[in-house]
Amino acid sequence: MWHAPWIPWLEWDQFRAAFNPMIVPNSTLVSSLFNEDREWDFQLSAIWMVPSVASSLNLIPRLPNNHEDKLIWKDATSGEFSTRVAYKSIIKSRRAENDPIWGHIWKLKISERMKLFLWKLGRDILPFGERLQRIFGNEVMCAICDEQEDSAVHLFCHCPLAKSLWLASPWGVRSEELNLYSSLQLLKWLLEPPPLLQHGNFEVEEFRKFGISLCFTLWSVRNQAFHEHVRPSFLITFNRIKSLVAELNSVFISPQDSSIDQSSLDAGLEVLQGEFVVFVDAACKDLRSVAGIIVTKANSEVVEAFSAQLQAVLPLEAEAWALLHAVHRCLSQGWHNVTFAVDCQLLVWGIKARKTPNWRAAGVFARLLDALDCIPSASVVWIPRTGNEKAHKLAKWSFNSYQFGFFNAEELAPLVAI
Ligand SMILES: [Zn+2]
Repeated sequence: MWHAPWIPWLEWDQFRAAFNPMIVPNSTLVSSLFNEDREWDFQLSAIWMVPSVASSLNLIPRLPNNHEDKLIWKDATSGEFSTRVAYKSIIKSRRAENDPIWGHIWKLKISERMKLFLWKLGRDILPFGERLQRIFGNEVMCAICDEQEDSAVHLFCHCPLAKSLWLASPWGVRSEELNLYSSLQLLKWLLEPPPLLQHGNFEVEEFRKFGISLCFTLWSVRNQAFHEHVRPSFLITFNRIKSLVAELNSVFISPQDSSIDQSSLDAGLEVLQGEFVVFVDAACKDLRSVAGIIVTKANSEVVEAFSAQLQAVLPLEAEAWALLHAVHRCLSQGWHNVTFAVDCQLLVWGIKARKTPNWRAAGVFARLLDALDCIPSASVVWIPRTGNEKAHKLAKWSFNSYQFGFFNAEELAPLVAI
């Protein structure tokens, strides 16, 4: 009970603090908190733990009773120990990487150089004069206007050149009025523009591309002015920003758009063989999730369609539960020559490898493998999301309308166009 952090969502110090301080640590086992049916005994748990933890123990995913216990390394997604994840766990607390802004930078569809630039901006390690002054003590003025101290907030917001560029942008931003005091604040403003700015047909993505291009260009213009004493013109700088935005638009097309081509769709549909093809998907949001399942004959005639509420938090967990529902349905109907079509690659990969891709889904995953073992002639294949539209729409509609159970083709027609 005391010597392993077995409550998944608690860090070690939180875990220790979850226990009743009046109880002396001894060698009690966690299983002593189970009743005869191997469910949590909440009355007993309430003696051991603070009420908020005791009452949420049922959220701990558990392996089915016929499975052996497994040791999980919490910081590894797979739950498996390796020296690599151990090292990451050790340095985790030392890296101040907890702010989601850093993760956001690496996911942007911009060049690696621009990402590095944004990262340096946020970390305040771009070699501005103000920074050099903190080290060497001599004041450095802005190389562009020579009016104020050379700093990130000045160059990107207050310098006359920056002001006119922002004002000429499609959003007509008055950058001198922004209350930004650090380069980290500026970075956050660029990546997550405040709702106040967002009116009309404001496109966050467009704004980001422009803002990042503006700062990136200004930094290079500033360096040129600093080293070569060249005064940049508004027009040339503005055109450089515009061509950089155009470059981002043409080179960095989002991967979702490019993956939906006809060949991958055909490749997915080609493998949908068998007497029955069962399309499975899950909708998952705000700790709720719903399965959408559509059973068709090989000639794509719909046999039945149903939805079900799921007990899942992770999207992967929801997909696994949805598939488990579909497998159970086929077992109960005696349908054995079945192909299950899902659009979650991680799930299909895990089934093929007989290994849960995420230990948090270990419980449902074990059940799923057991259930699939009961229909050896069935197969699970991955199809692209576009090939799974119907199940996807059914899950989404059911999620939003709170209607669950079986639906006939008539009820579904307007929604999923079967
Ligand atoms: Zn200036």
